[in-house]
Amino acid sequence: ELNNKLYEHPYAVSNASKIIQANIVSMHSYMKDIASAQSSDEIRIAKELIEAKQKIIFEQFDIIFQKYLGDQKDIQKSYVTFVHWEPIRDEVISLMQNGKQKEAFRITKGKGAKYIAELELQINTLVLFADNVAASVHEQTLEAEAKAKKTILLLLVSILLMALSIFTFLVRNILTRDKKIQEYLHVIDENIMNVIVDSHFKIIDASTALARYMKLSKEELLQTQEYFLLSECTPKERSEIRNIMKQGNCWRGEIKKVVNAQTKWLEFSLHPDGLNKAQYTNILHDITDKKEFEKLSKTDALTNLYNRGYFEKMFPIMIKNSQRHNTILCFVMMDIDFFKEYNDTYGHQKGDEALKQVANALRAHIHRPNDSTFRLGGEEFGIIFNIKREEDASPFMEKLLKNIEDLHIEHSGNKASSFLTISMGMCIIKESDTSSVDAFYRKADELLYKAKQNGRNNIQM
Ligand code: GH3
Ligand code: MG
Ligand code: MG
Repeated sequence: ELNNKLYEHPYAVSNASKIIQANIVSMHSYMKDIASAQSSDEIRIAKELIEAKQKIIFEQFDIIFQKYLGDQKDIQKSYVTFVHWEPIRDEVISLMQNGKQKEAFRITKGKGAKYIAELELQINTLVLFADNVAASVHEQTLEAEAKAKKTILLLLVSILLMALSIFTFLVRNILTRDKKIQEYLHVIDENIMNVIVDSHFKIIDASTALARYMKLSKEELLQTQEYFLLSECTPKERSEIRNIMKQGNCWRGEIKKVVNAQTKWLEFSLHPDGLNKAQYTNILHDITDKKEFEKLSKTDALTNLYNRGYFEKMFPIMIKNSQRHNTILCFVMMDIDFFKEYNDTYGHQKGDEALKQVANALRAHIHRPNDSTFRLGGEEFGIIFNIKREEDASPFMEKLLKNIEDLHIEHSGNKASSFLTISMGMCIIKESDTSSVDAFYRKADELLYKAKQNGRNNIQM
């Protein structure tokens, strides 16, 4: 803006003034030519040149009138002086045309020259003013430049400071976050049993919590054999877990592990590692207490067989399972013969011993994974087992009946034998049988009653 101001005004005025000055000098010189002319032609040519110069000067005055920033009276004054010079020039030309050369020369040298000097002076005033304005604008420009430099410097310093504070903030933030993450990881490492394994269950990394649990140092834990964590699993179970891992799936399950001669139960939560697909993260929980509690809640304390509550829960499930798999399920209800007599004769403690022995004999006879033995109450037991052929059921139970008698537990009050015996009622449940669970139970109970009626130490089905 200041540059524009400089070119639009002072420079324009100064240039126009200088053009005026130069042309005035030329006009004056042509006047002198007229005064010393030898012919009318010379006069005419000089006169035309003067008129051309006059035209230029008027044009320049127009510019000055438009652009001059000072008092318009200054221009008016020089303009009027210039206009008043014209009659003098006309007078000189007229004198020359009338042959009064001497007189013309005198006027040119006298009045004419005086006007020129006056004009020079007045035009100089305009130039001086324009120069002053130019100097002031230039000064303003310099000031503005210095100010701009200062502002830019200030801006740069502010940006630098701002960048520095953002950088400090970010670094501090990252450091704090990093510290928090470290603390968090430390808490996890100390408290959560975590292990990273490869596809062969070789331990790659483990948490301090797991090492402590295993009663090993971290180094010892890392040096353990492949499948160390699955040492109590069968090869079949291992390959099942490995197959699930190979498919990139998660595996959750309960694993038995002997730690320092103590049997522990660990819940595995095995996930493929997000970054390294060949590795798996395994978070472990000790669920020994839960397992213990579960076992207690379904076990009879005296005989260690499943209790009545568990029987009631499992009986319907086992019936459904066998019907789904199209197998034959046998439910046998059994009761010790004349057990009241036994207690009366040998005492309650001996009675308890006898109950345990009978329970052991049942357990020994019923040992397939899907078969179960229960103590239904007092000296009553229940057996549920699966068979392929219906005709196999009776011999299987006859054998058990004999096994009990063969325990040779002396029982003088037993009218069926000189040893302790049991009676059985067996109900065979087929896939086609749609009776209710209660109906099967009642049936077995009725058959047991029948066995008692039938002299005891026998099986009714
Ligand atoms: P039956 O041949 O008809 O079955 O005669 P029983 O004497 O066995 O029948 P009863 O139901 O009259 O007697 C059952 C006895 O079992 C009564 C009770 O003293 C005894 N009994 C029940 N539970 C226990 C136990 O936990 N320990 C001991 N020692 N005896 C028990
Ligand atoms: Mg009874
Ligand atoms: Mg009895």
